[in-house]
Amino acid sequence: MTDQLKELYRQVYELTKSKCTNRSGKDNSCGRCCSPASCIDSVTVARSFGIGISDPPTGHTFIVDGACSLEPWERPLCTIHHCEIFGRGGFYNDPTGEDTARYFELRNLISETHEEEEFGHVPSEHD
Ligand code: SF4
Ligand code: SF4
Repeated sequence: MTDQLKELYRQVYELTKSKCTNRSGKDNSCGRCCSPASCIDSVTVARSFGIGISDPPTGHTFIVDGACSLEPWERPLCTIHHCEIFGRGGFYNDPTGEDTARYFELRNLISETHEEEEFGHVPSEHD
């Protein structure tokens, strides 16, 4: 994976993280979408892109000290995920729609870059 693609994942992570934090009203995201099963799904998708990640210990997540210990590009499925995007197609706290538009712009860029790098299309919950 190129540095360009890693940087795109970092940007979409920063954007969705800010929305998770905002939604939870705390310093950390609510983390409701993290579970041992989600970690395994994430590892499966990462491996399909040639990213070598070890399984988390059985029955555990990659959460360490309240946050995922993987880099954003090491867990493409989770980095792309946001419950508001997948639930209603946009962020709630986004009066101008700018953040939602930026999210989809980044996601399209990631998808295009994946295709250029011949990894396949960007993962989604519907795959
Ligand atoms: S994507 Fe949704 S469920 Fe997951 S941490 Fe963010 S706000 Fe919570
Ligand atoms: S963000 Fe990290 S801890 Fe949460 S499900 Fe994805 S890989 Fe697991």
